[in-house]
Amino acid sequence: MSLLVIGSVAFDAIDTPFGSTGKIVGGAASYIALATTLLNDKIGLVAVVGEDFDGNFIETLKSRGVDMAGLQIKKGEKSFFWHGKYHVDMNSRDTLVTELNVLGTFDPIIPESWKEPDYVMLGNLSPQVQLTTLNRLRKKPKLVVMDTMNFWMDIGLQDLKEVLKKVDVLTINDEEARQLSGEYSLVKAARSILTMGPQTLIIKKGEHGALMFAEKEQTFFCPALPLEEVFDPTGAGDTFAGGFIGYLASKGRTDFECMKTAIVYGSALASFCVEQFGTTKLASITLDDLNIRLAQFRELMFLPE
Ligand code: AMP
Repeated sequence: MSLLVIGSVAFDAIDTPFGSTGKIVGGAASYIALATTLLNDKIGLVAVVGEDFDGNFIETLKSRGVDMAGLQIKKGEKSFFWHGKYHVDMNSRDTLVTELNVLGTFDPIIPESWKEPDYVMLGNLSPQVQLTTLNRLRKKPKLVVMDTMNFWMDIGLQDLKEVLKKVDVLTINDEEARQLSGEYSLVKAARSILTMGPQTLIIKKGEHGALMFAEKEQTFFCPALPLEEVFDPTGAGDTFAGGFIGYLASKGRTDFECMKTAIVYGSALASFCVEQFGTTKLASITLDDLNIRLAQFRELMFLPE
């Protein structure tokens, strides 16, 4: 099944207790696209970068089968730039700099061949652009998954609520779920968010796993793989979302049972992402590596009858 991915493709600078990076490749859609390439062979990317962006990374995505016809490269302009600093526990971070640059005026042009995708991943991006993307599709996709963050809740809440009406699954972290709903209890927050549009909500809790809530009071929990070292959590949420929708698209399914497995795939992929700075580790793993991690999840989640 075809999978359209949209989101930021960017430069990041990351500070962790283990060290800092200079400018490296990041962006929500970069992580999502890389994660999906292990599971799908029909992926299209819609994004924008400046003339300063890293051509090698574009080639990496191309060589892994991502159709880049929807990538705009803006002459004389700068790519989106984000600088984040992690706290000692690595579960929380502060945004130090967000420079929208090309993202500030991004007009998402969907190539003709991508106007009827089966699955759509709206990665972290301005809610207006997410909405425009959906409005430009010729038919309703089988499934739309959306990710967002507190930045857009702070500056574009009304637009964000408009997109929410059109998406099937929302993935956000626990802090963002509390901000969006105004509820501290995650169960109450989920109940409230499920009235805003999505039929399914996934709340990411970093090293504490992910909770999935759906209509009819369905709930599922998936732990994160306990790792000896977490080096850089940047992009883990995007990688998770890419693995989640990538698995569903590979099966052509959208039901809650299949979403449970999809969460495990997302979590397994995210476990690689955090082991090195940026996209490095994710870009180097194979399907065999993923299968080993999936087996570890099976052990971890074993429940006696
Ligand atoms: P995550 O760690 O999964 O929340 O995602 C981190 C990625 O999100 C980084 O690579 C950033 O480039 C990207 N990012 C940060 N802020 C924004 C924003 N306001 N809009 C779009 N992407 C962003």
